[in-house]
Amino acid sequence: MTSEAIPGGGPKLSLTARIMIGMVAGVIIGVIFNLIDAPFINQHIVGGLFAMIGKAFVNALKMLVVPLVVFSLICGVLGIGDIRILGRVGGKAFVLYMLTTAIAIAVALIIATIVGPGAGFSMEGIEAGSITAATAPTVWDVFANIVPSNPVSAMANGDMLQVIFYVIVVGVAALMLGEISKPFALAAEYMNELMMKVVEIVMAFAPIGVFCLIAKVFAEQGVGLFVPVLAYVATLTGVLLLHLFVTLMVLLKVLSGLNPMTFMAKIRPAQLFAFSTASSNATIPVTYRCVTERMGVDNSVASFTVPLGATVNMDGTAIMQGVATVFLANVYGVDLGIGGYLTVIAMAVLASIGTAGVPGVGLVMLTMVLTQVGLPIEGIALILGVDRLMDMIRTAVNITGDAVVSTIVAKSEGKVDVGIYNDPNAGLLEEHLGIDPHAEEVLADAARPHPAE
Ligand code: ASP
Repeated sequence: MTSEAIPGGGPKLSLTARIMIGMVAGVIIGVIFNLIDAPFINQHIVGGLFAMIGKAFVNALKMLVVPLVVFSLICGVLGIGDIRILGRVGGKAFVLYMLTTAIAIAVALIIATIVGPGAGFSMEGIEAGSITAATAPTVWDVFANIVPSNPVSAMANGDMLQVIFYVIVVGVAALMLGEISKPFALAAEYMNELMMKVVEIVMAFAPIGVFCLIAKVFAEQGVGLFVPVLAYVATLTGVLLLHLFVTLMVLLKVLSGLNPMTFMAKIRPAQLFAFSTASSNATIPVTYRCVTERMGVDNSVASFTVPLGATVNMDGTAIMQGVATVFLANVYGVDLGIGGYLTVIAMAVLASIGTAGVPGVGLVMLTMVLTQVGLPIEGIALILGVDRLMDMIRTAVNITGDAVVSTIVAKSEGKVDVGIYNDPNAGLLEEHLGIDPHAEEVLADAARPHPAE
């Protein structure tokens, strides 16, 4: 934990340290409330106060996503300044996103097959027909839907692929207009700075927001839920951690040469947000901030790769689908065969492109995968109880994959400021939260009527 001295006060804990304290306190209080199981606490504290603060905090994060992506992406496109480079950055990011997801699920299938969770499980109490399968969109639909018919509704619905597409087209048009786009570029730059400041304000409330979210999950779920499906939980968590600490870090080292330990230290706030909210989309502002301000990745790459990754890259979710499929195949005594495995890999990679990073979507995608390989979807009932906690871990893995790919792509384009990357204090929130000492003068001057020039 880092601490720093503030003038006239005692040592002040860093925001990351305070978020971690909020998280641990949330687990402890949540487990205690779960054991007490008092109706008053359940209804008014957990279901009332904690739920309200947690929801307000997630809403506050979500409210930042669309404006932040729009303005940072406009700055990004104008910053790149060349449509060919934009295409190259997008191409590299997309290929790496697909590749990491495919590796993730292949490793998950191999390890789950070796460990064999679910063998000898009893299927009592699961009614047939209690869960309905989602239908998988076709590849053609997925690509056709990237073009929004109505950009305003794409923004209102937070459909990030559509928003990204629209903003890139507008950015390219502004580039083509040349000189007269200057005021537009300045305005976008200002709006981007402004939104980053709003991110900081929201993040200042993170310790309490995170505490309430975590306490609520543990109070409602308890830890007893794990016992019946311990083999599934242990295998899944093991593969998720392996992907996080080994696969992604080896890729980062090999493809960018940057130090993985530094990366891990700097991405931590985003991982904590992802864990608490179980939503890659809601975490976009924090991931973006960690990648640009703490790791020195240029906005021209990060503004594009971070929101794209939150939508199309889901390594952790793919791992869950792999382990869950093998687990349920064992439970039902079905032999998947090599064809089954390949189907699972293809489905998981495709499904991750078309679905947004929001809580629980992995489970919906799992129904598609199970239907494809001919497993009864009712089996999902077995893992439903532990899915929220698994969702929290896999979302942290998902956003780490987004940040790794963003860093690799930026490094390959010479767009990482290695000085910032290696500086442990770069972009620490505490340095920025103050108000600019000249702000009043600047604003007063701006408000004063100026004689026409
Ligand atoms: N919650 C995950 C995410 O937002 C998706 C999932 O696995 O359900 O990335």
